[in-house]
Amino acid sequence: MKVTAAVARSAEDDFSIEEIILDEPRADEVLVRVEAVGLCHTDLVFKATGTIPHPHVLGHEGAGVVEKVGDAVTKVKPGDRVAITFRSCGQCPRCASHDPAYCHSMPLLNYAGMRPDGTKALHKGDEDIGSNFFGQSSFATHCLAYETNLVKLTDDMPFELAAPLGCGVQTGAGGVVRSLACEKGSSILILGGGAVGLSAVMGAAVQGCDPIIVLEPHEERRNLALDLGATHALDPAEATDLAEAVRAIAPMGVDYAFDTTGIPDLLNATMMALAPKGTFGIVGIAPPGTPLPGDLMSAVTFGHTVKGIIEGDSDPDDFIPELISLYNQGRLPVDRLVKTYPLEEINRAVADQHAGKCVKVVLTMDRP
Ligand SMILES: [Zn+2]
Ligand SMILES: [Zn+2]
Repeated sequence: MKVTAAVARSAEDDFSIEEIILDEPRADEVLVRVEAVGLCHTDLVFKATGTIPHPHVLGHEGAGVVEKVGDAVTKVKPGDRVAITFRSCGQCPRCASHDPAYCHSMPLLNYAGMRPDGTKALHKGDEDIGSNFFGQSSFATHCLAYETNLVKLTDDMPFELAAPLGCGVQTGAGGVVRSLACEKGSSILILGGGAVGLSAVMGAAVQGCDPIIVLEPHEERRNLALDLGATHALDPAEATDLAEAVRAIAPMGVDYAFDTTGIPDLLNATMMALAPKGTFGIVGIAPPGTPLPGDLMSAVTFGHTVKGIIEGDSDPDDFIPELISLYNQGRLPVDRLVKTYPLEEINRAVADQHAGKCVKVVLTMDRP
């Protein structure tokens, strides 16, 4: 079928809005009419690095309505409202233990830019276009998804708020609620006040952490963090010695730290701000080859743990409904983060996000 998509044709050029062809769903595939899709930093990393050869269609926080299902699909049916998250195999040992973010087939199913059999689902004339990003490629008016990356939504959950739950919010809130599982009254330092960092702030508030310290350069985002439950917001321009600034608030250091920035110097500085037995959870993407932060001798001396985290250790079938329930209780106000743009204005949205004019971009489809 014909779809309108934001195609990444090179690392440097803007996304181009094009009419391209999407395959009909195979037996295990689900055709979703995309209504909203979040823009996540990971999309821009893949566009910039060309890890998946250009041209390709990115987008991995889709939400919409099921239009058609393949013969083998039983989980959803046409008309169902769904959020689309990362894809997992459903069969490997990690999937079997409800840990699908560490699925043994994660790279093949999410980052290959094609189906596992090597075919691409998107075409323009004779040209094949990279597809299947996170089992969706949802920067488009329709996409193909799979049973393991679809979560049904209730009628009252707006698509533009459901979309970011599929990656950014799940990563930030899940990182604190599930991966670190911070105890009530524990102290936490959160590096970065973007969509993932602010989701971590909301997660820390849900857990009852105190203090909740955020490090973020943009003043508006620091203020938003304070509104969302942070007790202290540090400006890196002033908190040049991070450990000292943190210890002025939490004298023994923090029980938990959570990084969304991937900035190597900041990762190292954070190790000095950890309390004895402190744990540092990391979701930020550091440059390839970056060593683990800190110093082994002090990690041993103080019993520190450094923990890599994917997708907040989420099992989406359980955790996305939990996030929606928190939203409905007013404890996870994702609406405070979201700003919508039509898909056609994706390049303006990228520029605005880069300039710090908005926290979480969600692209919506304008249909006649
Ligand atoms: Zn698996
Ligand atoms: Zn993402």
